[in-house]
Amino acid sequence: MKLIYGSIFTFTLLAIACGKNSAGRRTLNLVSDDEMNTMGDEAYADILSKSQLSRNTTLNNQILTIGQNIAQSSGVDYDWKFSVIEEETVNAFCLPGGKVAVYTGIVPVAANNAGLAAVMGHEVGHAVLRHSAERMSQQLLLQTGLSLISVNFEDSPYKGIIAAAMGIGTTYGIELPFSRLDESEADKVGLEYMAKAGYDPREAVKLWERMGALESSRPPEILSTHPDPANRAKALNDHMAKALELYEASSKKQTINLN
Ligand SMILES: [Zn+2]
Repeated sequence: MKLIYGSIFTFTLLAIACGKNSAGRRTLNLVSDDEMNTMGDEAYADILSKSQLSRNTTLNNQILTIGQNIAQSSGVDYDWKFSVIEEETVNAFCLPGGKVAVYTGIVPVAANNAGLAAVMGHEVGHAVLRHSAERMSQQLLLQTGLSLISVNFEDSPYKGIIAAAMGIGTTYGIELPFSRLDESEADKVGLEYMAKAGYDPREAVKLWERMGALESSRPPEILSTHPDPANRAKALNDHMAKALELYEASSKKQTINLN
């Protein structure tokens, strides 16, 4: 009987917890925005405290400007933060609540402003579409059978899982790649964000081609959580006509070059 009550309870909870993300897809949602943003803030502070921040003023300003442009395009009112981490790893992330970090190792691969806008647009897309909350909900079901977790990231027994759900698990020893569906959603909105901000969206295709070419020689860290750079060219090109319309309509026109 207990089991039946449990099942009914779980079913009801799941029915309540299902919502739609901003891409219109139904998603499982057991963690509130506030909880996700708090965990995002705490994980961000944790990573930054263990990292060497770049002192390159030009690069910091460049990332800040591009990031603010992308944030504005997203139309989401987060407490945005942008940091540049001095590390040769080819990686970048955006945690729930708009906490963005770009590693210096990705800068040569991004190659130019538009490439950086493509990377940041994609990462911001994951955050805005609440992919972390969905992944965390799935992990909660799998690992804890729905018991509540502490929102305190630092002390949580599920720290690794929380980090993995947010796309930064490799830092904490757990890899959890985003799904193909998450990837194509993030690609699609990321392309729109960069185009609206005045960065040529065609540069996104070139960026992931460069990333793919790098894979055989020096596997980029970003590909451990964002698989299949080859597959995304199709999704990007399928959405290119709309992105180019937004780009043409954008009141801003950004230069491609770095400086
Ligand atoms: Zn991704």
